[in-house]
Amino acid sequence: MKIWLKKNQCTGCGACSNICPKGAIEMIEDECGFKYPVINQSKCINCGLCKKTCPIVSKFESNRLNEPKVYATWSKDEENRYISTSGGMFFELAKYIIKNKGYVIGARYNKDNMVEHYLVNDLKGVEELRQSKYLQSDTKNIFKETLETLKSKKLVLFAGAPCQIAGLMKFLKKDYDNLITVEFICRGVNSPKAYRAWLSEIEKLENSKVTKVWFKYKVNGWKSSPRCTRVDLANGNYRIYNGNSNKYMSGYLGPNLYIRPSCGNCYFKNLPRQADITLADFWGINSNLDDDKGTSLVLLNSKKGIDIFEKINNNINYNERKFNEILEGNGCFNNSVHINSKSEKFLKSLTADNFSKQVNKYTKFFILTKIKNKIKKI
Ligand SMILES: Cc1cc2nc3c(=O)[nH]c(=O)nc-3n(C[C@H](O)[C@H](O)[C@H](O)COP(=O)(O)OP(=O)(O)OC[C@H]3O[C@@H](n4cnc5c(N)ncnc54)[C@H](O)[C@@H]3O)c2cc1C
Repeated sequence: MKIWLKKNQCTGCGACSNICPKGAIEMIEDECGFKYPVINQSKCINCGLCKKTCPIVSKFESNRLNEPKVYATWSKDEENRYISTSGGMFFELAKYIIKNKGYVIGARYNKDNMVEHYLVNDLKGVEELRQSKYLQSDTKNIFKETLETLKSKKLVLFAGAPCQIAGLMKFLKKDYDNLITVEFICRGVNSPKAYRAWLSEIEKLENSKVTKVWFKYKVNGWKSSPRCTRVDLANGNYRIYNGNSNKYMSGYLGPNLYIRPSCGNCYFKNLPRQADITLADFWGINSNLDDDKGTSLVLLNSKKGIDIFEKINNNINYNERKFNEILEGNGCFNNSVHINSKSEKFLKSLTADNFSKQVNKYTKFFILTKIKNKIKKI
């Protein structure tokens, strides 16, 4: 039995493996580093629950608003705002949940520097969830854990990519009053294999283990942060990779070299959104709301979203905006990225020490093709 029709439809959200009553579905990494469900036929009882739960096969019918409220916001806590990827909204929302003895679920680095979803119930844990990690997060058994936690009636905030929220909602089968879901506008998730190859190249060069990666490092301001990454090392040093020296982001932004195939045809763009709240960078916001320290775009997609926003708005600066403004600066709101046609070849060719060389090679090819296409058009 196959859950989805084509490989490039599966987002790897893990809803099928979480729902399987026989534990017959394992998420297994393919040659390109992306996880896909593999069914153990000897355990499978053909109940069809996996297919029923897949958010690609059928969507969860939610009550998300078709006309969400739109805000430009940023945290009043300057330290949080600097550390956070955009304006620090996630941390403000999570702080409210923790203050009310609830649980927060989001993506953090594990001991091998890979990204996985994790449940926390204190501020120290929330700090680990903060910041964007530009690779696919492994959801493991987190949907099952979320359900168990929801049954305790405590508040639960679940943050993730839109496809992960879609998977969670299909798994839960209903919306819970004590659940608040938060998603981000997503440009696509990268292959953990590419990320591992980049880290291993740095570790070899520096002769030291990487201890933390800080994407969108704001040392030169928010607007130039997408290509600025800070990497901390076990020997106490840190490196800042900026612009062209930032090989990982150079292969991601533009050439789209290692984005998951399903992101090229994302089912979760546009309205209505998957989550109660959508977060993003408010790219293109007018200058009186942009001091280059990070301005968040917030969409409130449900009554629950509006309610929690009202509870935290003493801790943030906010300004209501028109919906059309978000489309000008954030094309990923309603468009999927174009996956590089050489992506599969690139990922299969990666070894522990050829990451930069391969990115240079394939990026050159990407630029040449772009020029060729422009000339052809003319
Ligand atoms: C892969 C990816 C692509 C993105 N693409 C865009 C884009 O095209 N345009 C745009 O405006 N914004 C994009 N964002 C969102 C943006 O980077 C910020 O995450 C968002 O604006 C929230 O910022 P913040 O300051 O409120 O909080 P932050 O603390 O920065 O919030 C990060 C939140 O995202 C969760 N998270 C981090 N990494 C992952 C991951 N790999 N998988 C699942 N959850 C994760 C964290 O747990 C936390 O809840 C993207 C984020 C990611 C992870």
